[in-house]
Amino acid sequence: MRNQLADVVEAKGIKDKKVLQAIRSVPRHLFMDSGFEGHAYQDKAFPIAADQTISQPYTVAYQTELLEVSQGDKILEIGTGSGYQTAILLQLKARVYTIERQLELFKKTNLFFKKMGYRPKKFVFGDGYKGLPEEAPFDGIIVTAGAPEIPKALLGQLKIGGKLIIPVGEEEQVMTRIQRKSEKEFSKEEFGSFRFVPLLEDKN
Ligand code: SAH
Repeated sequence: MRNQLADVVEAKGIKDKKVLQAIRSVPRHLFMDSGFEGHAYQDKAFPIAADQTISQPYTVAYQTELLEVSQGDKILEIGTGSGYQTAILLQLKARVYTIERQLELFKKTNLFFKKMGYRPKKFVFGDGYKGLPEEAPFDGIIVTAGAPEIPKALLGQLKIGGKLIIPVGEEEQVMTRIQRKSEKEFSKEEFGSFRFVPLLEDKN
């Protein structure tokens, strides 16, 4: 079933062999809420705890492909959710730092990572809008929730050459890749539209 899912994702346009291999490897059914396991290998988003969603595999593959991860890269993920995207990044041998702001999901996914032996470098409960300044700079930052605007803090936490992959917009989001060219210069590319749950900012 994982092979079939990878084939579907490939047919939709994903080319990166390592990303497709990661989709073939990670057992998505284990990341689903009970009752939904039977749907895990459909290329669809599904509900998880705290009114959030496990992203559609195509979307996960799309964002991961844009990130162009190399082994050992230091990657920050905002919006851990079920941990599926985290597991894909770990499969690519990235050093992963991941942040979730819903306590219920944080606790649940934290236990799950421990049980399964998934080992992000850090799993933080908090507001990813601020990034993770104490661990910056990063080779890549991936935001898995829809951002009304690009959080400035994240730009400052990229290495020179580092990339931020972020869906930007309210109702619908444009997948956006920002690359840091120098201390002060950034390039911006825009890709297809997607629909994510919102990136929420904790205003305190
Ligand atoms: N990568 C996840 C996607 C989950 S949906 C998966 O495939 O399962 C997006 C997640 O972002 C939700 O869990 C939501 O709670 C979280 N989120 C939203 N705003 C956030 C913020 N400011 N900081 C950290 N996480 C946030």
